[in-house]
Amino acid sequence: MRAQPEASHYIHGAYANEAEGPEFNSVYPATGEVIARVRSARGDTVNAAVASAREGFQEWSATPAVERGRVLRRAAEILRDRNRELSELETLDTGKALQETLVSDPASAAECLEYFGSLIPTLTSEHIDLGGPFAYTRREPLGVCVGIGAWNYPIQIAGWKAAPALACGNAMVFKPSEVTPLSTLKLAEILIEAGLPKGVFNVVQGDGETGRLLVSHPEVAKVSLTGSVPTGEKVAALAGAGLKQTTLELGGKSPLIVFEDADLDEAVSGAMLANFYSTGQICSNGTRVFVHRSIRPQFIEKLVERTRKIVIGDPMDEASQMGPLVSKAQYDKVLNYMRLGQAEGAELVYGGEAAVVEGFADGWWVQPTIFADVADHMHIAREEIFGPVMCVLDFDSEDEVIARANATQFGLAAGLFTRDIARAHRVVAQLHAGTCWINTYNLTPVEMPFGGMKKSGIGRENGKAAIEHYSQVKGIYVETGKIDCPY
Ligand code: NDP
Repeated sequence: MRAQPEASHYIHGAYANEAEGPEFNSVYPATGEVIARVRSARGDTVNAAVASAREGFQEWSATPAVERGRVLRRAAEILRDRNRELSELETLDTGKALQETLVSDPASAAECLEYFGSLIPTLTSEHIDLGGPFAYTRREPLGVCVGIGAWNYPIQIAGWKAAPALACGNAMVFKPSEVTPLSTLKLAEILIEAGLPKGVFNVVQGDGETGRLLVSHPEVAKVSLTGSVPTGEKVAALAGAGLKQTTLELGGKSPLIVFEDADLDEAVSGAMLANFYSTGQICSNGTRVFVHRSIRPQFIEKLVERTRKIVIGDPMDEASQMGPLVSKAQYDKVLNYMRLGQAEGAELVYGGEAAVVEGFADGWWVQPTIFADVADHMHIAREEIFGPVMCVLDFDSEDEVIARANATQFGLAAGLFTRDIARAHRVVAQLHAGTCWINTYNLTPVEMPFGGMKKSGIGRENGKAAIEHYSQVKGIYVETGKIDCPY
């Protein structure tokens, strides 16, 4: 097995095995080869991880912010030094093209650690003058936080959760997705190497049951999940029963609007980035591409011409632009939507079936796919596919497209292309989405808050906004005179 870790879990600064949890495989999606085997954590391991985090929290929460920041920035440097090795591991675990993981995965976790490591020592509290007496505030950590990740950006998701949590002085127990268990263990190793006290960042592997044990653990103060809406609903209900705080980064069916005055080549680039990067497995993807009816023929022509040139192939070859889907389950789901789109009457203008890649017969490859003439009521226009399937919908007016863009239970992201600045800001203000782009798509710099409205989530990751979700404010009243007491 090419990527077998020393043991399944990483607890209190060391690898830890567990005998009783069910075993599962990590598979290289390009070939179907088993690359590692790990075990799900059950009660004893979950308890050990949380107890260790509780211990780590005592020391870490008393560490000055400037020192906490230094440790996180050191970890960012180590991640950057090992970028290639970590990106190769991420490509093995996810199947995503190395061309992408080299720039988007460990690198994004590193940026997040650097950002929060730099931000945290600069934050100051309030002094409130009460005309004699005064009050001040302290921003305090929450305690032990649980992070639960999805499989599409494993080390990035772990970094996006660990960095603000740890910067604020919390400890974290992180559970990666069963589908992609490997890279988060490396992040834990690196944080220890950077000087993080033992127990402050622990990793336990496991399935939904492990997640449930973590969320319901009485010593856990907060849960941050990246996953699907149904899992988010379950996690929120369980966390709510224990009155725990939650951050939920869930799914989407985001609109991308191309107005008639858009730079067409740029808009095509945006639509491709919004649908084909990461083989379409991105929560914020702009999968409903609304194109003004007057420019639709030119748009489709350019789009198809460029989609035809996408290089699908060996993910480890840096020339490859698209790898396979992450799992057989995802492959079946995406192919099913490709068939459904045709059955529902959408016009298939490109792709629509499995892709054949020489030398990788057992991988989960699909073609980048474009449907036109998609109607709002179709399943492919309403449900999250999480694969490289773009739906092109026509529109005639600004008001109409805003209403149709918003007519969804999701509200994660949205984008628009136009040369008219006034229209750009007018429209973006009316879109029900937590993250919006004007004249680009899917850029998520760590300085900018990211997260969803409606069923796409609660809370924000990244930016200063994340600090609010990993800390609590204490108000302290200081009397400087005599107490005015009626008794
Ligand atoms: P899932 O919701 O299936 O799983 C997410 C995580 O939750 C996994 O680690 C999973 O464990 C765990 N889990 C499952 N059931 C429970 C439970 N009852 N209690 C606690 N934890 C549980 O999502 P996927 O992994 O399939 O990821 C794809 C989804 O994630 C898509 O819908 C996508 O939109 C969303 N996503 C959202 C992002 C965002 O930032 N908004 C970013 C990336 C993805 P396991 O898998 O090991 O069983």
